[in-house]
Amino acid sequence: MPIIDYKCPSCGSGMVFNGRTGALTCQGCGRQDNIEELLDPLKEQVFSEDRGSVYHCNSCGADVMAEAETTATVCSFCGSAAVLGDRLTGKLAPAKVLPFLISKDEAMAAFRKWCRNGLLTPAGFMTADRIKGMTGIYVPFWLYELHNQVEVQGHATKVRTYTRGDYQYTETQHFAVYRKLRLNYVNLPIDASHKMDDALMDKLEPFPYERLKGFKSPYLAGYIADKYSYDDRELLPRAKEKISSYIEASISAAVTGYTSVSFTNKQIDTTLKQADYCLIPVWMVKYDYNRKEYIFAMNGQTGKVVGKPPLSKGKISAWFAGVAGATFLSLKLISWMMGGGFL
Ligand SMILES: [Zn+2]
Ligand SMILES: [Zn+2]
Repeated sequence: MPIIDYKCPSCGSGMVFNGRTGALTCQGCGRQDNIEELLDPLKEQVFSEDRGSVYHCNSCGADVMAEAETTATVCSFCGSAAVLGDRLTGKLAPAKVLPFLISKDEAMAAFRKWCRNGLLTPAGFMTADRIKGMTGIYVPFWLYELHNQVEVQGHATKVRTYTRGDYQYTETQHFAVYRKLRLNYVNLPIDASHKMDDALMDKLEPFPYERLKGFKSPYLAGYIADKYSYDDRELLPRAKEKISSYIEASISAAVTGYTSVSFTNKQIDTTLKQADYCLIPVWMVKYDYNRKEYIFAMNGQTGKVVGKPPLSKGKISAWFAGVAGATFLSLKLISWMMGGGFL
C-alpha cells in the first residue's frame, strides 16, 4: 500500500498539519511549511493496485492495520502521520478540504468545560484516558448544488365579515392560485460516511464553506480520515429530503394574504447541478459509561459542540440546590439543557 509520510527536510522528524497556524509543522525542530506552497506528494506518486489493509510505517517499521475506509491515520506504535495515497486518487480524490482551525488542546479544554469540570458527570468520569481519546477526524461529505423548479396550483379564499343595518354579512371570495418558483441551493452538506451518525453530523452545522481549500494531502497529516461510503447519487434522496422543508416554507411565503389556501397540485423538479467530495473537520471522543455509548463531537472550524455527557442524578440535584435553591427541577429539563450543545 503506498504510504505518504511527511518527513521534515531539516531534521527528519514527522510533520503534522497545525490548524492554528495553517502550516505543516515539524514535531522535532518546529519547522513550518506553508501547505499552499508545497507540491502535493500525491500528485507525484505512482500507485500500484495493492489493496491490502496492512501498511508498513516508514518511521518505525511497524506493520499497522488500516480499515478499508481509512485514507489518513496515525501509526499506533510511534504516532507518525500516514496518508494512504491510493485511496485519495481518481474517483476517490476529494475536491476540497475544510482544514482544522481548532487545535487539539482547545478541543480538550472544551471537552472539560462541556463536562462542567465533572460537576454534572459521575465521579471518576473525567479521567486522563478519556481526554487522550480526543481524535481529529476528517469526515467525508458531499456538498450539493440543487436547482429546483417548483409549480403549485391550488385554491384560496378571502373571507370578510361586515354589518349593514340589522344584518351581518359574510363575503367569501374564491381565487385560483398558481405559482412558479425557482429555488436553488448551494453547499448543501450530506455526510457520506456510514460510520458517522447522520443526526449528529447535521447538528454540527453550519460549517464555514467560504474557507474550503482545494484538496492537498498534507492537510490530513496527523489526523484520521475516511473515504466516502456512499456516492453522490446514492445520497441524493437524503439531500432532497433535507431541502424539502425549505421548499415548503418558500411556497407558503409566496402565497400570502388569504384566509385559507389549499393546494391541489405541487410539482417539484430537482436537478443535481454539482456534488463536490469534501472533507470536513470534527474533533471527537467516543466512550462507554455504564454500558451506554456517548459521543462528544465538536465542529473543527467553529468550535460548536454536540452530544450528551453522562448525568449523575445525585450531583445534578446538589448542583441545582447550590445554585438556585431549587430542588423541584425535573431531570427532563436538565436533559433538554444538555442536549442543546454548549461550550
Ligand atoms: Zn524538523
Ligand atoms: Zn510507526
